[in-house]
Amino acid sequence: MNINSPIEKISFCNFNFYIKRDDLLGEINGNKARKLYHYLLKKYPKNQRFISFGSSQSNALLALSIFCRQNNYQLFFVCEKLSSFLEQNPHGNYALALKNKATIIQNIDFSHRREKALSLKQEKDIFIEEGVANKEVEAGFIHLAKEIDQQSRSLNLDFDIFLPSGTGTSAAFLAKHSKSKVFTCACVGDEIYLKKQILTLDPYYDFSNLYILKLPKKYHFAKPYLEFYKLYLMLKQECNIEFDLLYDMLGIKTLMYYQTTFKKPILYIHQGGIIGNESMLERYKRKFAHL
Ligand SMILES: *Cc1c(COP(=O)(O)O)cnc(C)c1O
Repeated sequence: MNINSPIEKISFCNFNFYIKRDDLLGEINGNKARKLYHYLLKKYPKNQRFISFGSSQSNALLALSIFCRQNNYQLFFVCEKLSSFLEQNPHGNYALALKNKATIIQNIDFSHRREKALSLKQEKDIFIEEGVANKEVEAGFIHLAKEIDQQSRSLNLDFDIFLPSGTGTSAAFLAKHSKSKVFTCACVGDEIYLKKQILTLDPYYDFSNLYILKLPKKYHFAKPYLEFYKLYLMLKQECNIEFDLLYDMLGIKTLMYYQTTFKKPILYIHQGGIIGNESMLERYKRKFAHL
């Protein structure tokens, strides 16, 4: 796993900013590569079992399945009951995880996927929280903060950093170790939920370097919005970069909304997730028949 990505300057709708291309890190990329850095440094025996849970189309599932395939480990992943459509037409992250020999288990008997996953855990198994939101992953963000610090010195630029959040693990650990201010937005639930998630990770988390921005309009996670699709296409055309439909669309919208309030040049972290777009684009096409 190559942990070092370039910083590029881009312009979108007359707003100039910089982008950290963690989407280019390799087969495992984005923040899932940063998170798995800790587990990569550790050497586990062949066939080590990793137990996790989450959405059957999650970027975490794909990243974990690649990680386990590359290292000869086994992945057991608990997801919701699959739709007959997905079972009969595997696609997106789910299909790739199957190809990577992940054992995907549908939760039909427990009230929550996490409980089901915990019931599978044996003594020596490694348990990975949803979205790889484990406190051990901090190491990858210490590394990222250092990398950004070195790059900003060689570019002679002092950045404010922006990255959208799911569990907030990436933003929280980056903010903890970065000299730059870190801005984020909550893509899953609201700011209160995001703070709660971060406090689950670290009950003593100090929020003084993490700024949570919000838009006047509420968006529901993973719901297809036509304005997101249009923004996705505009970014692709104007910047020649594909962004993630789940997190980056809200992230970029929030960034553009607050563009005049930042005091320093912005470094936006591209956290990968492009393969996950495949199943989201399918959903857009089914919802908006004219696309
Ligand atoms: C997983 C993921 C996120 C969310 O990361 P957190 O650390 O849970 O906040 C954001 N963007 C992309 C593309 C992701 O795959």
